[in-house]
Parts: sequence; structure tokens; C-alpha cells
Amino acid sequence: MLATLLHCCAGAAAALTSGTDLLVARGLTRREASSVEARYRRRHRTLLDTEELEATFASLDALDLRPQQAAHLLRSIELRELRAAATNHDGAFVWCSYKKALCDCSAVPPSLGTAATATAAATDAAPVEIVSPQLLSVDCEFNPLRVAAVDETGTLRLDALFASTGAGTPANPRGMLACDVAATPCQPQAELRDTLLALLAGAAGPSEGCTWVAHTPQQDLAALGLSEAELRDAGVTLVDVARLGGAAAGQASSLKRMAQAHLGVEMHGGGSRHCAVQDAVVTLRLYDKLKSDDDGGGGGGGGGGGGG
Ligand SMILES: [Zn+2]
Repeated sequence: MLATLLHCCAGAAAALTSGTDLLVARGLTRREASSVEARYRRRHRTLLDTEELEATFASLDALDLRPQQAAHLLRSIELRELRAAATNHDGAFVWCSYKKALCDCSAVPPSLGTAATATAAATDAAPVEIVSPQLLSVDCEFNPLRVAAVDETGTLRLDALFASTGAGTPANPRGMLACDVAATPCQPQAELRDTLLALLAGAAGPSEGCTWVAHTPQQDLAALGLSEAELRDAGVTLVDVARLGGAAAGQASSLKRMAQAHLGVEMHGGGSRHCAVQDAVVTLRLYDKLKSDDDGGGGGGGGGGGGG
């Protein structure tokens, strides 16, 4: 009897050790690896075997993550949930440096001629062939201070950290992985502001400046050092989607509630961090959905928003 017990324990210990080693090889400490295994055991009432672990690693590897990102996911998400998210249909979930998780923020990654050029425009001379967006959905997150802008085609035009003082060091990168901080452009407020204004004015010139779409943008504008008057002077129409859809003045509904009500989209759930890219995409979808209802209703800055 005792012998059988001892044998069982030894077997379990052996299984644990190899799983731990595999997790440690992926950048977890031994302690973290043990808690990953304990969590798995509690949830599934069975030991974590190497087969399950290897399958999870394979699904993570297919996402092309940085080692730090993959290690973070292994630590923070239950393994089967992680594998389910990672193998979710045609890559709908991507690594999100805002949430430090897999996120369905669906903005098309910036490519040459869009965000890359726009960002360069702030530091360099004349912007080369920026295709002027008609709509730009802008959102800031404040901890750390970041800004994202997505255009009407769903292309990410800007995703940057605010620099503290002139230099390229972010103001407060707390809460981000070091590899994400290193990979995120970091610019002083004045440059970010100029980048956005250049995008908004675009090649079309101020007379055909585009529409800045946002959800309750006052704080974001303040963070960027921009005023509504300045945007108006630059020919930019500012639309606050919180004022669309029949919302009474001063009765702005949260983005989460509006997304639920008008798009059937669940976001900001379970206390997860907000993602500026996702917020910008959802804001854009809300604008599309609600603008026709409010046509002529004077939601936000400049009324109708272009004839057609
Ligand atoms: Zn995201």
C-alpha cells in the first residue's frame, strides 16, 4: 500500500519535472512553471502531460510571437484556453501589446505608405504619397500614454507611445512588456500631434480634410495638446460617436455599452485592459452604423460631414 503510494508520487513527480523543464525552457521561472501545472491540474483534474504542453507551444509558435510574449501568455492564460485562442480560425486573435494578451483588434497592420510613412513624416521632410484617409478614428490610452489611429479601411495609421521629454523614452511604459516598448514607436507629444494633423489634412488639402472620429475625445485631445478649435481651423470635422444614436447632451454612453447596444460586440470584459486599436476600430464601426440615423442632426463638430 505504502509502496504503491510512493510509486504514484514518484510518477507524478517525474511528470511534473519534465513539464516544468519544458516551461522553464520557454522563459518561465520554476515557480511560475509549477503554478501553470497546478492551475492545469485544478482545472482539468489531471496532470499536465508533455503532449498537451507541446501542442500548446506549437499553437503559440504559429503566432510568431516574441519569446517574452509567449512566456507571458503561458503564465497568464490557462493552457487549453490559450490553445483555443491561438488556433482560432484564420488568425483572428493577435498579440496585443495593450492587453498583453491575444486580442481580436482587427486593424490591418501598418504597411509601407501608411503608418510607416506617416510616422516618418513627423521627423522627416515631405511625406511621400500618403493616401489621405476620409475618416480617422483616434484613441488614447493613459497608462502608459499611447495613441492609436485607424482609418476607414481598417488600416492602423499610427500606434505610438508618448515620449517623456524630447528623447525617445516613453513617459511611463509600466504595464508593457519590454519587447513591446522597444517595438512601439515613441515620440514627443508635438510630433504625434503633427503626425495626426498631417494624416488628417493629407494630400487632399485642408479644404477636404477628413473626419476625426472618437468616443468622448476631450481627454485624448488634451493629451495630444490639441483643441477642437485647432481641428476646425485645420478643416477637420470632429465627431464624437457618444453623441450619435440619439444620445442626449451630457448623457454620453460608454463605448462598451454602445458597442453592446448597437453592434452586439462585447468588449472591456473581465477587467481586461483597454486596447486603443480595438477601441478605435469599434468607434469607427459605431460611426458607420449611427451616422445615417443622425444625418443632419449635428453630432459633434461640423454637421453633415461632407456631401455625397
Ligand atoms: Zn488589442
